[in-house]
Amino acid sequence: MVTTTALMNTYGERKLTLVKGEAMYLWDDQGRRYLDALSGIAVCGLGHSHPKLVAAISEQAGTLMHISNLYNTEPSVRLAELLRSLTAMENVFFSNSGAEANEAALKIARKYGNDQGIKTPTVITMNGSFHGRTMATLTATGNPKVKEGFAPLLDGFIHVDYNDIDAVKAIDNDQVVAILVEPVQGEGGVNIPADDYLCELRAICDERNWLLMLDEIQTGNGRTGELFAFQHTDIVPDVLTTAKGLGNGLPIGACMARGKAAEVLKPGNHGSTYGGNPLVCHGAYTVLTTLQEERLIENAKQVGNYLLLGFQQQLENHTKVKNIRGKGMMIGIELTQACAELVGAAADKGLLLNVTAGSTIRLLPPLITSEADADQMIDIVCQLINEL
Ligand code: PLP
Repeated sequence: MVTTTALMNTYGERKLTLVKGEAMYLWDDQGRRYLDALSGIAVCGLGHSHPKLVAAISEQAGTLMHISNLYNTEPSVRLAELLRSLTAMENVFFSNSGAEANEAALKIARKYGNDQGIKTPTVITMNGSFHGRTMATLTATGNPKVKEGFAPLLDGFIHVDYNDIDAVKAIDNDQVVAILVEPVQGEGGVNIPADDYLCELRAICDERNWLLMLDEIQTGNGRTGELFAFQHTDIVPDVLTTAKGLGNGLPIGACMARGKAAEVLKPGNHGSTYGGNPLVCHGAYTVLTTLQEERLIENAKQVGNYLLLGFQQQLENHTKVKNIRGKGMMIGIELTQACAELVGAAADKGLLLNVTAGSTIRLLPPLITSEADADQMIDIVCQLINEL
């Protein structure tokens, strides 16, 4: 195990040093192999070291890696056009991370308000949400614990309960300009709202001239069994953000917009030195085309259902299990007790997973997961819960 004080201690003690990855597996510096049910926190949908992605990055690195956003590049145009054709969004701003994609969305919301003469453009976000660690996205986040110690936060945010349409309808505030919401709350504990939640939010936004901004940083790129989670419904957002699985490990985020939201940012209003450079854009293009060519979104839906059913069959009446929920390759098993220690116990059994919201075991497996891999995950997780 590698230990050092040279890295700022923002993540606490890290027990494993991982040195290699291939498809569903990771290896540590002791030569131990782990089945990956976390995908670098919903990032490596194609698994590790996918040959098409390795080849694409290598080729692009030897051709053109970075030139700034003062010039056009073919990879960024190609990726933007592909995203447009896959989502019905009209244009895109590329960033380096999820938080920055949400920053762009929040800037669109504020300028959309300012352009109409609204003095304190205000964005509604949800309790239990997670939108990032920058100051604006931290303020937007609906989890007081991650905000502790960072006052003063920003003005212009209202938080309401997730999946509570009446709470949104009850807001009587002429400064509101937008709603920012995750279609499934990931960090909040894999919280899945009612089927009509997004449609109801869409209707409220249409009625009140608010922007509907979906944070699909975690749910995007096939994770829930559609390319984007809003595609399980008939609605389309005004702003759509994503990152994580888009780059499969390359640092890229995207803030997409349509209609009135697509016209808000003008030259000079926003920018990024690295954002959307040819290396990450060619990689992300390869990720999206590989998801399609290898039918991995269908696989996420099918094997995700298989996992959910497997857990339900094995654990439904378990005294320590409160609730089992999932959508595609986002699975949460909420226990009746805090269970952070299961992360280490799972690694000891050769499985990498995560615990979120204190008591929810979270699985975010690669979209290439097979039913045989799923069987192993179910086996080990059931053992862990039985041994608690
Ligand atoms: N939004 C959601 C829904 C997320 O899950 C995350 C990260 O977990 C973020 C935003 C922030 O993304 P990043 O860590 O890439 O800044």
